[in-house]
Amino acid sequence: MVSIALTGIGELVTNDPGAGGGPLGLIERAAVVLDAGRVAWVGPASAAPDADQRIDVAGRAVLPGFVDAHAHLVFAGDRAAEFAARMAGTRYAAGGIATTVAATRAATDEELLAGAGRLVTEMLRQGSTTVEIKSGYGLTVRDEARSLAVAATLTPETTFLGAHVVPPELADDPAAYLDLVRGPMLAACAPHARWVDAFCDRGAFDADAARAVLTAGMAAGLLPRLHANQLGPGPGVQLAAELGAVSADHCTHLTGDDIAALRDAGVVATLLPGAEFSTRSPYPDARALLDAGVTVALATDCNPGSSYTSSMPFCVALAVREMRMTPAEAVRAATAGGAASLRRTDVGVLAPGARADLVVLEAPSYLHLAYRPGVPIAHALEL
Ligand SMILES: [Zn+2]
Repeated sequence: MVSIALTGIGELVTNDPGAGGGPLGLIERAAVVLDAGRVAWVGPASAAPDADQRIDVAGRAVLPGFVDAHAHLVFAGDRAAEFAARMAGTRYAAGGIATTVAATRAATDEELLAGAGRLVTEMLRQGSTTVEIKSGYGLTVRDEARSLAVAATLTPETTFLGAHVVPPELADDPAAYLDLVRGPMLAACAPHARWVDAFCDRGAFDADAARAVLTAGMAAGLLPRLHANQLGPGPGVQLAAELGAVSADHCTHLTGDDIAALRDAGVVATLLPGAEFSTRSPYPDARALLDAGVTVALATDCNPGSSYTSSMPFCVALAVREMRMTPAEAVRAATAGGAASLRRTDVGVLAPGARADLVVLEAPSYLHLAYRPGVPIAHALEL
């Protein structure tokens, strides 16, 4: 294995408080040495140690790979017509998630893997080097288990989301579906999953049902996270705090008590502005969360219904323009924040020992991620 020195870095985001340079740990005129898939050294280029190979990035900015901590990538079909109807103001009557569930059940494992793999590749090309993938479009024991088996071939960050919605065939008996989820479905899925999740919102699962699913998942050795307070105010965030969930995701409708609960319980608020953008909904109050001292992450929520973007740079731009996060706060949330949301210390940071997951920008500063929205300036470094 050869060591590689990345030199000529105009601006390096380390997210390492020990590096100085504010909350992003910025170093100008920097170098990074990579060895055996890990960061071996970080500092000013003038002090860089020798390496077997040198790559000069000619003044470009470099940052840790984006950590996309919330994505639904295992599905078949798309819902472009539903999106067009929503944008035209047509009230959407039926279909929705059930359309994706039917297509996913009908797809082969190979088709599901090809679809999810295409999206992971798309993400990598835009700088996402760590991606979480949920199940949740199978909603039978067999289809949830094979969705997670597909996801596990693409990432270690797999999440069992059998409690996404009650499937159409059990719409009249949600209690039976809840028993299935926390019983045989969990047993079949736990070997392929690191996390357990539930959609705690109106039209999905109430607090008691979500608590039952998360508690069962935790007893099976999975770590809890939760879809909370997306569609309206509700008990999700408080439940996440009560159970010690690592992350509460969406957080679009929060009270002051909700924000205090997140802060006091140390729950990461993972914000998904692509969903608000794509459903033309009000954005979460990122400022209130940050000002209260809550750890904020940004993720894409990539899914065929409410946020079919795979682009973390797009989410950074939305966070700055629409949620009044500073560019530094948004970049930190998309990297170190995502790592916190996945309880990872080896990604989202460039310091000795961290994974060699780097983004090289076709720009001199991280500021360009929000300043040049929609322009493909971010690429994961592929060695
Ligand atoms: Zn989601």
